[in-house]
Amino acid sequence: MSGQIPALPESFAPGIDGVFSDRIGFYSLDSNVPGLSKVILNKLNMKDYGEYRAAIEGNTKGGAFRNYKEMFQKMEETFQFCASCNKLPEHLSEGQTLKRCVKCLNVYYCTKECQKKDWPQHKMFCKKLRLVAVDRLVEWLMFTGDLPLTTDKWSLPAAEVKGWDDWLAIQGNLTPRLDAILSSTNMGALWKNASRPRPEDADLRESVWRVESEFLSRALSVGMAIRLFGLDPYFKPLTIHLAGAGLNETMGARLTDFDELDRMFPGHKGLEVVMVGPEVVDGPIMRPPLTNFGPKTKTFISAYKGLYHQFYEDMVETEKAAKPDLVVGFHPGFHATQGLGEGWLPSLLLLRDFNIPSFFTMFNEMELNCSLQILSELEMHIKGSGPNPFSSQKPEQIQACPNKPPSYCNSHFLYFQGLLEQEELEQPDNSRTYWKV
Ligand SMILES: [Zn+2]
Ligand SMILES: [Zn+2]
Repeated sequence: MSGQIPALPESFAPGIDGVFSDRIGFYSLDSNVPGLSKVILNKLNMKDYGEYRAAIEGNTKGGAFRNYKEMFQKMEETFQFCASCNKLPEHLSEGQTLKRCVKCLNVYYCTKECQKKDWPQHKMFCKKLRLVAVDRLVEWLMFTGDLPLTTDKWSLPAAEVKGWDDWLAIQGNLTPRLDAILSSTNMGALWKNASRPRPEDADLRESVWRVESEFLSRALSVGMAIRLFGLDPYFKPLTIHLAGAGLNETMGARLTDFDELDRMFPGHKGLEVVMVGPEVVDGPIMRPPLTNFGPKTKTFISAYKGLYHQFYEDMVETEKAAKPDLVVGFHPGFHATQGLGEGWLPSLLLLRDFNIPSFFTMFNEMELNCSLQILSELEMHIKGSGPNPFSSQKPEQIQACPNKPPSYCNSHFLYFQGLLEQEELEQPDNSRTYWKV
């Protein structure tokens, strides 16, 4: 297949899942598979991480593919290394090639011995890794515009939709909508060019749903945060800042990406979602934030490229952007010391000291626990945390370590507001007349 590649797939690259959405993360691939970051750059015809980022952000023609087949092939090649001894294709001897596990068609081995040796670990993840590899391809339909699905206005109040089962119940039968995607031109092109057979329709429907769930998970998590803080979008318009927004939320982003909030709170007084982060990708959402309120019943998206505390100083304090009623962050990664030092600390202190309702999500429970620890050290008033009922259903493979449990976007959450009250920190004191709880 030759044919013109539409603009969006040009910026499609592996790893837009946040697993290496920053430079350190990207090069840390090499600690597991030496040279993997270089392979990815080579496949994409890029010289360094800067160029990789520029391409992802759509700022260069570099990294464009001649046709779909080449694009899918190059993507697949970034996953090619021996899952047992970590050898890359270039380290194999003459005539030797990497062979894929026939079950998942996702992990590779240099020899039968390596595969045998790895099986005790791999057998625990093989089934899941098959789904991961299918989802990785199906995700492309998000960039072609075939996804997301159209969804219905909520027939129940938001408070009664407590998780995916409730959400699915108000949508009725999704199958016709999923089938329309299955029979789309791009779905056809995808499997004609991908290096694996088209799955059965039932499997493919599941995959489309998982990809869709990741997309919806963002708006639904924001909606949940609105409710957790008791904010009322029917009482007044709400401004929501998405702090640390990055590739996941902004690459190929459309002005309609948070419209699920309009269906969740039909007839609301106006919602604005401002995406703020140094990794915000240029696109239609890159328009100035509102100083006042946008149209009623609609969710307005705007964006700002920079660190959150800078945005607050430059835009909010100068009244070029409305004050936030709520700040949400997806996978901030401030549990990593690097992340905290590089930018989260001033922002977290700002959120705390200005008493701003704040809600953050994590990829897994371990990340949640580390984040809770950090926030406690900052004496944040943590109001709650736990598994997110609107977690993405799409498993995410750790690229350099396939035989590890996959993670899920927005799988856990925590929310906090302001400083922990002194009374809660200290022992009761006899001289006090009342005790606040
Ligand atoms: Zn090997
Ligand atoms: Zn396998």
